[in-house]
Amino acid sequence: MPELPEVETIKNVLTPIVVGNKITKIDVYRAKTIEGDANEFVEELVNERFLSVSRIGKYLIFHLTNDKVILSHLRMEGKYYEFFENESDSKYAKVVFHFDNGKKLCYDDSRCFGILKLSCEKEYKKEEMISKLGPEPFDVKDINEIYRKLQRVKKPIKTTLLDQTIMTGLGNIYVDETLYASHIHPLTPANLVNKEEVELIIKSSKEILKIAIEMGGSTIKSYHPGKDIDGNFQTRIKIYGKEGEICPTCKHAYRFIKVGGRGTTFCPVCQRKKGAPHNIGLTGKIASGKSTILEIYKKLGAATLSSDAIVSDLYQKEEVVSLIEKTLKIKFPTIIVDKDVLRNHLIINPKDKKKLERVVHPLVEKEIVNFLETEKNPIRVVEVPLLFEAKLDHYFDSIVVVDIDKDVQRKRLEERNGNKAILLEEINKTNKIDENKNKATYLIKNNDNLNQLEKEIKKTLIEVKGLLK
Ligand SMILES: [Zn+2]
Repeated sequence: MPELPEVETIKNVLTPIVVGNKITKIDVYRAKTIEGDANEFVEELVNERFLSVSRIGKYLIFHLTNDKVILSHLRMEGKYYEFFENESDSKYAKVVFHFDNGKKLCYDDSRCFGILKLSCEKEYKKEEMISKLGPEPFDVKDINEIYRKLQRVKKPIKTTLLDQTIMTGLGNIYVDETLYASHIHPLTPANLVNKEEVELIIKSSKEILKIAIEMGGSTIKSYHPGKDIDGNFQTRIKIYGKEGEICPTCKHAYRFIKVGGRGTTFCPVCQRKKGAPHNIGLTGKIASGKSTILEIYKKLGAATLSSDAIVSDLYQKEEVVSLIEKTLKIKFPTIIVDKDVLRNHLIINPKDKKKLERVVHPLVEKEIVNFLETEKNPIRVVEVPLLFEAKLDHYFDSIVVVDIDKDVQRKRLEERNGNKAILLEEINKTNKIDENKNKATYLIKNNDNLNQLEKEIKKTLIEVKGLLK
């Protein structure tokens, strides 16, 4: 979706294309693209001449003779293409403006979310879509006013800024960039953002938007400002879409979560999450000592939850037992899930592992969500062996990955399981820890030195507690 800098670039590209031209004819191929009466749109605009193009937030505003105005919002895929009259229209042309200079302008929209609306000079700023927009960062005159408005909002700051009513101009890319530059965690409730931080948000967003506009925006899949023009801001993006890359300031990996349904990248250490709990996801290879580490976290005062314990509980529940029996077409000797029977079945039918996961993972997820929503302790640690496979990593502010040397792991497995060691190593092959190591906020090596381990765990807690202040 084009954001403010992209729309500003489109405005600059369109201005010389339209200004001075008279509309001789308008073809409307999709009436719904016009907000309001499509016939009136055509009748009112034919014979008018373009005077200028301006922009408010992500709205393009075409000013025409006789005080006529066209408001245009591109949404996801809206684009403008200029052609000579003897060329064909663009592939997804929805509205085509024919000019008196032998050219035409196609409004193209493959996904049909964009709109065009007829208005006039006196009224367009009062149209609801425009009047509800807050000031752009460049136009904020009174920081206190923004601060006071944020004070009334308990939603996360990212969601609040995306909403455009308190301040307009920051979409998904630039809000992630701005919050990173301002050291504010995207989930921080808006009312906990203090005045200095509001100043920082405005200052950073101005700088970021200014650079982005100078560079012609970022070239993203759905956006092209014009023929042969590419934005170059993507080379300056610091955090958006860079999950797993290392933050140059703190050397920890960037995290990816969903905030209000929007993909969000942030630095779990540099961006402070105030007033909100800090959730740590703990994962690692088999026999890496995850449960020992979970115990240490508990001893040090964090609330803890083990997915293995959740699974054990689930395996005692009648409805879960019968669901697993039905799904895998097996029968347990008793009314609980017999882990040995289950394991043997999975060795013979390895494909059933996925089926079992489809039953168990959502139930585990439900328990984890319930724990994170109801737990009063501000620091919570959840041990999830298949954190990445089950795609549960987005619930956590930081991630602790426990690593172990191969020979130590083998020794522990042999001690624990005797001849099952080989089997367990097989299981280990499906564990995606190595390929996800780069997503770890803290990578902890556990090669049997308990003191060292405690020290490292303490360090993570001190850092996390510092973030909550
Ligand atoms: Zn950082």
